[in-house]
Amino acid sequence: MDCAGRLPAVAARPTRNADLVARDLAVLWHPCTQMKDHEALPPIPIRRGEGVWLEDFDGNRYLDAVSSWWVNLFGHANPRINAALKAQLDELEHVILAGFTHAPALELAERLVALTPPGLERCFFSDNGSTAVEIALKMSFHYWRNAGEPGRTRFVNLTNSYHGETLGALAAGDVSLYKTTYEPLLMGVLTVPSPDCWHRAAGESCAEHSRRMLEPMRETLERHAGEVCAVIVEPLVQCAGSMRMYDPIYLRLLRELCDRHRVHLIADEVAVGFGRTGTLFACEQAGISPDFLCLSKGLTGGYLPLAATLTTERVYQAFYDDYATLRAFLHSHSYTGNALGCRAALASLDIFEQDDVCAHNRELSREMAQAVAPLAEHPHVGEVRQHGMILAVELVRDRKTREPYAWQERRGLRVYRHALGRGVLLRPLGDVVYFMPPYVITPEQIHRLAQVAREGIELATADSGAP
Ligand code: PMP
Repeated sequence: MDCAGRLPAVAARPTRNADLVARDLAVLWHPCTQMKDHEALPPIPIRRGEGVWLEDFDGNRYLDAVSSWWVNLFGHANPRINAALKAQLDELEHVILAGFTHAPALELAERLVALTPPGLERCFFSDNGSTAVEIALKMSFHYWRNAGEPGRTRFVNLTNSYHGETLGALAAGDVSLYKTTYEPLLMGVLTVPSPDCWHRAAGESCAEHSRRMLEPMRETLERHAGEVCAVIVEPLVQCAGSMRMYDPIYLRLLRELCDRHRVHLIADEVAVGFGRTGTLFACEQAGISPDFLCLSKGLTGGYLPLAATLTTERVYQAFYDDYATLRAFLHSHSYTGNALGCRAALASLDIFEQDDVCAHNRELSREMAQAVAPLAEHPHVGEVRQHGMILAVELVRDRKTREPYAWQERRGLRVYRHALGRGVLLRPLGDVVYFMPPYVITPEQIHRLAQVAREGIELATADSGAP
């Protein structure tokens, strides 16, 4: 490197995957990855994206069936979002949001308040899903102090829940793979069994099971009356927790329970918001309004890091006072309300409005269900489950007992490898193969996806032996 920080010039020839992989592995540390795995399966350098397709430097194309970690809604390089961002770039890229404001941030806040369930009237921006959750936790806790109930210091969560990776959000979740190592650093939470329908009894419907699972929540809130700030849940789908699903009845009854115990309800719709479960927000299916709603991922259509925590006027008013009372919410992130992120979000909301996206998604959801229907009878498929544009196939050693495969066998990884070879980006969660595609996927592409998943599942389970 010379003193201007320039790297030595590289030979002028077309860049190939291998060139970038070598450079990548010399400097990058990838998220959620045992880097040694890359000795066998190198990262794939992506040159460009268009619609559902990603293209690497060797010219291979991959259908992005996981919407690049559940963020992309309307395809890569969407012309409408691109145009909005290009225009915004010439106006304002970013400005401090303390003491200053700008049109994209306030327009987005207005539209989110109008679109989200009734009663959510204040919008606090940040820049990712974990911060949206941290903010909800801190606001809830701080609300109770400001409201003269400092004894409320605890949070209640569900088994198998996931709310992010920063320490507060990690503490609020329950997926042991991510949490156990850091346990000594984390606040304690009260964890109650999830209404997850995978665990329903023989002959029990999902709704009956979800309803029954309210009982442990009721007991916990009664036992800890006056100690709890909030209950935090992922409405309808525990995405990082293996795409486990439950019935909307649980949310409706939980809302009543929280009201009875004067406890906040935090709905973390970071993954399920913006049309994923069939409605714009999953809470709509239960007809409820949470006290806090956390949004990120699809908020910008998958373009830029942005998050919003929405809350009620009542919560807001508990912080509104003379400065010297020190009741203000003094929380900040440098990129809060970034103008480009807000503009991308507005362009994405325009698409929802102009294209009747939720109705279109209902058709695509039916197509996804049909395409994977044959898998439901597979000897190593424990369940095919779906909420709207999220469809999951859970692989098991024994279909009858639902005995799982040993996690060390990494069956899902075999599906991942097969799919890459066939031009599809599927990224199973353990042994759960799922589709969460961009909403611009076509019925033909859905069938191709299902075909590749079927082949991958056959391969991955071929040596299982008889159950
Ligand atoms: N909450 C939920 C429900 C999520 O699925 C995620 C991300 N997978 C997060 C929070 C954290 O979001 P981020 O990765 O943007 O911090």
